[in-house]
Amino acid sequence: MAHPSPEPLSLPHDLDGWKSFAADRPAERLQRVAAIDARLVDEPELSLQERLALWNEADIALAEAAAPSHLISESHPDAEVRDAAEKQAQAVDAVQSRRVLDRGLWEVFADADPSGLAPDERRFLEQVRRDFRRGGVNLPDAERERVRALTDRDTELSLVFSRNIREGRREVRVPAASLDGLPADFLAEHPSDAEGMVTLTTEYTDLMPVREYARNRWVRHELMGAYNDLAWPVNEPVLAELLAVRAERATLLGYGDWADYETETRMIGSSAAVRAFLDRVADAVAPAAADEYDRVLARLRRDDPDADAVTIADFWYVLGALKREEYDVDAQLVRSYFRFDRVLEGVLNTTGRLLDVRYIPVDAPSWHDDVRTYDVVRGDDRLGRIHLDLHPRDGKYNHAACFGLAPGIAGRSMPESVLLCNFSRGLVEHDEVVTFFHEFGHLVHDILGGHQRWARWTGVATEWDFVEAPSQLLEEWAWDAEALASFAVNDAGEPIPADLVARMRTADAFGRGLEVTRQLGHATTSYRLHVDRPDDLATAVDGYYRAASPIAPLEGAHSYAGFGHLTGYGACYYTYQWSLVIARDLLSAFGDDLFDVETATRYRREILEPGGTRDARDLVKSFLGRESTFDAYRDWLAGA
Ligand SMILES: [Zn+2]
Repeated sequence: MAHPSPEPLSLPHDLDGWKSFAADRPAERLQRVAAIDARLVDEPELSLQERLALWNEADIALAEAAAPSHLISESHPDAEVRDAAEKQAQAVDAVQSRRVLDRGLWEVFADADPSGLAPDERRFLEQVRRDFRRGGVNLPDAERERVRALTDRDTELSLVFSRNIREGRREVRVPAASLDGLPADFLAEHPSDAEGMVTLTTEYTDLMPVREYARNRWVRHELMGAYNDLAWPVNEPVLAELLAVRAERATLLGYGDWADYETETRMIGSSAAVRAFLDRVADAVAPAAADEYDRVLARLRRDDPDADAVTIADFWYVLGALKREEYDVDAQLVRSYFRFDRVLEGVLNTTGRLLDVRYIPVDAPSWHDDVRTYDVVRGDDRLGRIHLDLHPRDGKYNHAACFGLAPGIAGRSMPESVLLCNFSRGLVEHDEVVTFFHEFGHLVHDILGGHQRWARWTGVATEWDFVEAPSQLLEEWAWDAEALASFAVNDAGEPIPADLVARMRTADAFGRGLEVTRQLGHATTSYRLHVDRPDDLATAVDGYYRAASPIAPLEGAHSYAGFGHLTGYGACYYTYQWSLVIARDLLSAFGDDLFDVETATRYRREILEPGGTRDARDLVKSFLGRESTFDAYRDWLAGA
């Protein structure tokens, strides 16, 4: 039976409308927050439940200000609108950090008696108090001021660190004759100068083809060496200070180290648990990585008989060569089955079937003509609205990600979410198909989980080290012969052959162990730089990578200076492997049939629909009927 559902947003249809939407609407929401905060402080007669409800009202207003601001700043075709949105996003951040340091607001919740609260209200109160405590509100004045200064300094240093990387592009000049192996279109775009030299840059458009295709080991080494020194030495003191600032802040707030601070709100729970997890992954991956390493070293020696180790400058080249030579997967042939329009239809049909929803195209204004808008519907119920902005253009976000637009609040505000991607319009690579499924996993999580009372827990607002699991899980449908046969069809109308899909899967599994050791190197670096606080960053990081992976880092490299995730992920780059362990375990429940209706329904109800209303550990346990284990991940590492 249908129940009345909230209306979607009406997006502007002209530039003036967008300017106002980007600037005035968030500003109005921030005024609401200020009014709510004033009431909380000025009206001591409010009951605790009323205070919590008001705090949720402020959360809703903040989400309504923040989500579209982030989205528009990354997607609107007009630079002025993007800038206005970015200013509002910063204003929201400032309000949020000010609130958790506000003594007056803290008093509203500090000594409140939780007896008589419903379980969700009690959990909400605990988390609100935790926010204040983590902000430093209850420290003595001098220390509170110091935490405030350190928090601001972290923001500044993080911005500088990222900007130095963004602007740190390097160039190398190599003889044109040394570019053997690179595709013809690459060579045509890189003509040699009067001296017979070609200039290569550290941009991905040069770096990726060179490290994958250049037969000349020296060329690969030159360019990877330049890439590894991106933002070095300029970022060396920036990073050293950032690590010091974080360590001092963690200590003032009463945590053992920065990883203890960061993981308090996550599934993994503690710094010691991160260390144990990294050790566990290292043990599990070692056998597969050792086998693969022998094969890649042997293949490298066919080109370079004197090579004594496979370095990070050899890894992609040798892996690519082995896949082409031994697995009979022709990327050009694979690509011929993936025409973008059919892939889009395939993603919609596959996820629709899996999650029991339909996507109804909607003709509504948006920020660009490329945007496709759909209502997500089950029976007569409209569950939410999605906007797919899938092709590249100037000034647009240049990766692939899911953005919120409107927070889903039960009976009040319809969840709306957006994908910003950069897919080709014609034929797409299978990698892009996998990315599409991955991002769509976030999107449907946000919509199906977007029917909560509390804005804090709506949609994808679950623990940060769990949030990738549903999207990693959905990637598997891009590797499923049955799913692919329904939409991977070439221009002659022939579906992709099952034996080609099987070969693609086998080829994909090769190198998996080594790739995980590389990820382990990043995760170890992110964790130990923050926890061990070494004086000599270069020597320490070189050691982390050598211990984590048989693929050697380049001698004298300073890759940490260009490791952009150190700002946002902090000590917690482990999260991607952590959620992958869970994703593999969730997948195991589907057995051989990814479209099993009973399992899919349970998955939707137990994992996606609760959003963040329950701890992720409990969601996983409800779905699996047991605690999550490492077994499925271990099998996957072994090539399953
Ligand atoms: Zn993701």
